[in-house]
Amino acid sequence: MVVEVLRLGHRGERDKRISTHVALTSRALGASKILFTWEDKHVKESTNKIVENWGGDFKFDVVESWKKYVKEFKKRGIVIHLTMYGESINERINVIKEHLKNGENILIIIGGEKVPNETYELADYNISIGNQPHSEVAALAIFLDRLFEGKTLYKDYPDGKIKIIPSKKGKKAILNEQNYPQLIKKL
Ligand code: SAM
Repeated sequence: MVVEVLRLGHRGERDKRISTHVALTSRALGASKILFTWEDKHVKESTNKIVENWGGDFKFDVVESWKKYVKEFKKRGIVIHLTMYGESINERINVIKEHLKNGENILIIIGGEKVPNETYELADYNISIGNQPHSEVAALAIFLDRLFEGKTLYKDYPDGKIKIIPSKKGKKAILNEQNYPQLIKKL
């Protein structure tokens, strides 16, 4: 079973930071891959750097045709489009969790400014995280957290170079290997 995220609707330079956040949120909250419809060197490098330092095998990929990708994905799983126009997550999350329990793959589509109308038709579920406009990062985070019931927050990455020790105060981190002074400086 895999959970992937497809990011549509990039708006050039001004979306670089939020697109990076979309990728990092996908990884941190349990998805195994992020797919973009364009090659953005900055977003790709930032994502890969996090994986290199913090572990796991999260993948960054670019699709030539998002529609083709979605249609192919539907042969091996379900597609969920996050949109403020959709059905409430509160009403639909149990049905979606059943798909997950049955071992089905899940592709989550999130937009930028405006997604193509076809997205609503191609998706098996159009899901809203409330019916107010907000952010793709917030919508994705809430959706993944509800899907995995908070469990991915405890995910351990044995191959990560850095591991945080949750503390009441201050910053505690250990290094999996010796001699990463450049990382210690950043913590
Ligand atoms: N008009 C857009 C819409 O259809 O949701 C809002 C654009 S918002 C800047 C960018 C993306 O954030 C949307 O494409 C959607 O994936 C996500 N998003 C924003 N608000 C949402 C909400 N209330 N529920 C689910 N997703 C939302």
